[in-house]
Amino acid sequence: MIKVTIWNEFRHEKNNEAVAKIYPDGIHEALAKGIAEGGIEIRTATLDEPEHGLTEEVLANTDVLLWWGHLAHDEVEDAIVERVKARVLAGMGLIVLHSGHFSKIFKALMGTGCDLKWREANEKERIWVVNPAHPIASGLPEYITIDHEEMYGEHFDIPAPDELVFISWFEGGEVFRSGCTFYRGQGKIFYFRPGHESHPTYYHPEVLQAIRNGVRWAAPSGAAAPVRGNHQPLEPIKG
Ligand code: ZN
Repeated sequence: MIKVTIWNEFRHEKNNEAVAKIYPDGIHEALAKGIAEGGIEIRTATLDEPEHGLTEEVLANTDVLLWWGHLAHDEVEDAIVERVKARVLAGMGLIVLHSGHFSKIFKALMGTGCDLKWREANEKERIWVVNPAHPIASGLPEYITIDHEEMYGEHFDIPAPDELVFISWFEGGEVFRSGCTFYRGQGKIFYFRPGHESHPTYYHPEVLQAIRNGVRWAAPSGAAAPVRGNHQPLEPIKG
């Protein structure tokens, strides 16, 4: 059983009627329904809960954390960011969605500015699979078409990804590395671009399939925690 926590800042849905129409119970609930399948146990957490819903106990019981934020990155307490980062380095998977590129946790784990180009013009996005052998691409067609999305364009200020799974093309001409994986400590991170709040992207079956695949990929490997520091020899040394 993979224990998943879906974290959402949950502000647009409360403050913007158009967004509330698309996601009446919040993006986190839409995602929870959308990615549900056997072998995955899902809970949600939101910014306005005590400790942003990310207590030590919740994180200790999370194998993969999903993160959606936009308006209120600055309101996430630094102590909670440190707590999440420590869990990622210790093996918890992290899936950062869309505008989460500017979250404190993603920036802390990348070490770069994480800025990009953007435009809201209801344009078409084609997400091309550029690594069909990768488990995150499992069951997906050659490309995913989203009829209306926000544009994100290069240059995306991230370190070179450990693996590139998707590249997006936009109607207006830009391209973007929209599916990137990173290994940090014992943890795995998947950044996945689509999911602007004013489009129903998190009902798109292939987008949900990619996120579901991401959850399975990012789950802890089960390898023993590495031992570091001064070390006794495993065999007698005859020097
Ligand atoms: Zn957006």
